[in-house]
Parts: sequence; structure tokens; C-alpha cells
Amino acid sequence: MRKQKYDLDEELTKPYFKLENVVNGIFTAANTLYGINMEELKDVPSYNPNVVTTYKVTDAEGNLLGIFTTDYLPRPSKRGGAWMNNIREQYVDAQGNMVRPIIVNVGNLEEYLTIDEVQTVFHEFGHALHGLLTQCNYPSVSGTNVTRDFVETFSQFNENWAFQPELLAQYAKNEKGEVIPAELVEKINNALKFNQGFMTTELCAASILDMKWHELESIEGIDIDDFEQQVCQQMGLIPEIGPRYRTTYFNHIFSSGYSAGYYGYLWAEVLDKDAFSVFEASGNVWNKELATRFKQTFLERGGSEEPMVLYEQFAGRKPDNDAFLRGRGLK
Ligand SMILES: [Zn+2]
Repeated sequence: MRKQKYDLDEELTKPYFKLENVVNGIFTAANTLYGINMEELKDVPSYNPNVVTTYKVTDAEGNLLGIFTTDYLPRPSKRGGAWMNNIREQYVDAQGNMVRPIIVNVGNLEEYLTIDEVQTVFHEFGHALHGLLTQCNYPSVSGTNVTRDFVETFSQFNENWAFQPELLAQYAKNEKGEVIPAELVEKINNALKFNQGFMTTELCAASILDMKWHELESIEGIDIDDFEQQVCQQMGLIPEIGPRYRTTYFNHIFSSGYSAGYYGYLWAEVLDKDAFSVFEASGNVWNKELATRFKQTFLERGGSEEPMVLYEQFAGRKPDNDAFLRGRGLK
């Protein structure tokens, strides 16, 4: 249906999204917004010199921000998926010395990326920026050590730049060096809104189901399927749409730290899209002044302050769901 309605053929887009070009894209975006520079380091210690690329990250004045390592390619012993890890947190030690972070982005990517994978690379680098730009005293609250319903704000926020025409013109080039045609970019941006009614509903349903399980004070005599059915009925879910995860394999909420917190993905998106709308409202999504404020208010401060206090400092108001709905094509 996506191909039919939106006429987007990923075989046509893939040649423009070579992994090394996309990496160039995330670095260019970060340089434009936050003034940071990445310099590749050779012969530095790493867990596997054959598979990782390591960069020294500096700010506009040349000060060291941290070390960033990428480990994007698949290999037989590797876990699936993509993630960001802190090899070392940022903190100020007992003698008052600044310790800068060491951050890694891991993936399982081929040489040419799908649209989804391009977003993943921007996403994980958003976490990496949160980890690298941090300026906190304590490792327990530096970088991405923020509340669970806040942490995805910065990874998702970074995805907003992936398909901006000005950036694509710099990184999305095929073997001949031709930039991705505008018509294809328009198709990508339209296709990103495909099926969002369904997806938003299944995510909301899973979030509510999660809450309902964790509101229980006792599970005595509860039948899992009956309970799930009941919750779905209460929320008025139509039979054609189920919760994103059914109870019996809803890993997030029983063993992965998202107990009563699955809503965090959607809530972070409300924040990330609302924050991005501040950039849009300025008439320039590459607004440096706003990017600096974003960096100083959020990326440098980790979990050292309440999320909503930080949010109001950045936007001058509380977020609303308008930009979230527009971002998903629902408004
Ligand atoms: Zn993430």
C-alpha cells in the first residue's frame, strides 16, 4: 500500500544513502547546529580495532568534548538492533578535574541504508550528542542519565534533521556524486506519514495496557487474556487494531525497565516535535541561536534538573500535542 499510495520505491532511494555518506550527514548536522567537530583517530585503544572507527569530538573553540566510536557493521557474534552506550560517563572528579565521556554507537547496517535505517543512525547519534555535550558534575545525572520518559526526546529530536533538503544536498549523494532528486525527497517525507493513525493507536493502546497492569495491587485470579480484552474494551479499541505488544510478549514492561513507562516513547515525541516546532516557527530549522539554547538547556544538563523545568526554560512555555500530531500527519 505504501508503494501504491506513495509510490516510494526504496530501491531508488538506497543508492543515495551509503552508510559513510549518512555518517557524514549526522556530523554535518551537528557541526551546523552545535559547532562541534569530529576528527578520526587512528591507532587508539578500542574493544576491536578491526570493526570500530573512533573520533575525537571538539567544540567550536577546539576544546575536547569526548571520544565517539562507531561500530555499525554486522558480525556473527553481535546482538541485533542499534544502540548507544557510554563506555565512560562524563563527570567532575573529587579533585575537580573534568572527565570527558567515551560514547559508542552500535548498529547492524549494510553498505546502503533504507529510510528507516537512516533515521536509526540519526536517532542513535542523538543519544550520542546527549552523552558527548554534557557538562554535569555527577555521573549519575550526566548525559543520557535522565528519566526514562525524557531520554528518547533527544534521539528523536535528532531525527528531525535527517531529511531536511539543505542537509540532504550535502550528504545524500549516489556513486556519481548526484544529489537525491527533490521529487524523491518529497516522496520520502510523505511516506513517513504512512499508516500513522494505526501506529499511533497501537502505541497508545500498549501504553495504557502497561499502566493498567502496573496499577494492579494483586494478580490473584487474573486471567491474562481476559484482563487484556477488558482493558482494550475500556479504551474503545477497535478489533482491527491491537496493542503494539500483547501482554505475554510485552518485554519492555516486565523486564526491560519500562514498567509503567512505555508511554515514554510517545511522550518524548511530544517533547521532541514541540521543541522542533520552535525551530520551525523561527523560519529557519538551522537557527544557530536556538540550537545553542537547545544545547545549553538540554544537552549539557542531563538529569541535573526536572525535565519540565528545562523544557519551559527552552520553549518559554509547556509543550502541547499540536506538533506531535502534525508530525505524524494526523492534523
Ligand atoms: Zn533511542
